[in-house]
Amino acid sequence: MKKNTRIKFKRLSRFLKILSPFLIINGLILNANANIISSVKPIAFITQAISDGVTNTDILLPDGTSPHTYSLKPSDLAKIKTAELIIWVGEDLETFMPTVLKNIDKNKQIELMDIPTIKSLLRTSTNNHGQQKTHTHNNDYDHDHHGEYDEHIWLSPKIANEIAQAVHDKLISIYPDKKGIFDENLNEFTVKLAETEQNIAKKLINVQNSGYFVFHDAYGYFESQFGLKNLGSFTINPAVQPGVQTVYAIKRELKEHQAVCVFREPQFSPAVIEKIVNGTDVRIGELNPLGTDITLSKNAYSQFLLKLTQQLLDCLDKKLM
Ligand SMILES: [Zn+2]
Repeated sequence: MKKNTRIKFKRLSRFLKILSPFLIINGLILNANANIISSVKPIAFITQAISDGVTNTDILLPDGTSPHTYSLKPSDLAKIKTAELIIWVGEDLETFMPTVLKNIDKNKQIELMDIPTIKSLLRTSTNNHGQQKTHTHNNDYDHDHHGEYDEHIWLSPKIANEIAQAVHDKLISIYPDKKGIFDENLNEFTVKLAETEQNIAKKLINVQNSGYFVFHDAYGYFESQFGLKNLGSFTINPAVQPGVQTVYAIKRELKEHQAVCVFREPQFSPAVIEKIVNGTDVRIGELNPLGTDITLSKNAYSQFLLKLTQQLLDCLDKKLM
């Protein structure tokens, strides 16, 4: 080695030594960011089933938050900017998304309600179906769904299959060499879901005549597939005690329609609901439309649907009482 070259080599190795910690840190950051973000948890259940073994799935909305009222934090924006793929439902649900996604590559986004095969399976919002709906005047809580279509698409197993297909196709375009894994994952998901649907149908057949009310008009896809008897929904602020008139109006509805149950969601304080059913035979159940207590895994989506089924049965099935 000539003297000149040796000096150059020494300089280079010293330079690399100084640089190496940064390279490692940078590598870790890149790895942590190489993931797919789903807006709400049940969409992440589906994504996880398809991406399993290839890439990470992350959820944008923390447990216990509602997509109807969520606002993005700076850390969410950072996540979105560095994500490989962002999967969200649609602008009627995540109203905070379109602005943020304007500057993100279109190829890195899937807006589910925009996919033609999903569009054809959408049901119009209950508002247009002439179902019972009791509105209570409330200025600080607006949880009405204003969109033309029911945006709670993760509660439809039929749409879940289409979501899985769309995620599968997109992932193949990102990782063409992993096609085999994605194909297998999709097949497993579809088979498992078909089995779960049959299982749920069998379980719910006995409660198809038990009428109930909900406090969140979110379950339409599930209810229509499994023939459940939703009598209507009440819109109230879960954090505020309803007034005397509201309580009276809801009680009258419960009696008139011979409701068996009212279903609250985890964010409702039991006191509010107890006031409403007090003096009636109506039972209080709880439904969780976002799979809050379910861990992200390959089978999480089926677990989520089965948990919901069990929650319905716990209140609607008189034999259990
Ligand atoms: Zn909703």
